Amino acid sequence: MTDEPDDLIEEARVMFAGRVEFLKSAPALEFLPDADFPEIAFAGRSNVGKSSLLNAVTGRKSIARSSVTPGRTQELNFFEVGDPTVLRLVDMPGYGFAKAPKDMVRQWRFLVNDYLRGRAVLKRVLVLVDSRHGLKDVDRDIMKMLDEAAVSYRLVLTKADKVKASELEAAIAKLEAEARTHVAAHPDILATSSEGGLGLPELRAAVLEAIG
Ligand code: GDP
Repeated sequence: MTDEPDDLIEEARVMFAGRVEFLKSAPALEFLPDADFPEIAFAGRSNVGKSSLLNAVTGRKSIARSSVTPGRTQELNFFEVGDPTVLRLVDMPGYGFAKAPKDMVRQWRFLVNDYLRGRAVLKRVLVLVDSRHGLKDVDRDIMKMLDEAAVSYRLVLTKADKVKASELEAAIAKLEAEARTHVAAHPDILATSSEGGLGLPELRAAVLEAIG
């Protein structure tokens, strides 16, 4: 982990304390908003804590909705941040549902792959990983997709409050080692907890930093 500079943390805090607004859902590429602003996307296995983290980062109770059932998950959700708009957050559909039918998995891949490859304004993807479980093969699949699409991404541990400090350190070290073997991966890992608030100021700063 690295420390984000204090001024960036403060700038990000102020930005997220201001306007955050749901813009639209895109179930297919033709519904994407115009590529007017830099985008930072949140990706992760279903149940990784993505909705909770989006809500915690934006300080909104329920701006992002949790994907409890497979089937409601195949869309990209866009949120605008800043007044005037500085950037958009993109909630990507969760992946790795054990029970997802094959054609849904294929649909997911089409949507996500097309988005990843065709979106010049996409500045970074935050790939969320549960602190208790570490990287799974489905996470490695998306990391490979991102490497191949040459989209910069960063691994973010979620639910850090659920593990002991020593386990969290070990999880960070493991992810750091694996990130180093991927061309498009940021070398530093962020550890977060939506419950306790750990790492949220740093994550906000990392979002702002990523738009350059
Ligand atoms: P999503 O499917 O990735 O959007 O996951 P959710 O945000 O819906 O979270 C899945 C479950 O994990 C829910 O029961 C949350 O309450 C829980 N959860 C999410 N983030 C945290 C966290 O930081 N700490 C703890 N203890 N639980 C969390």
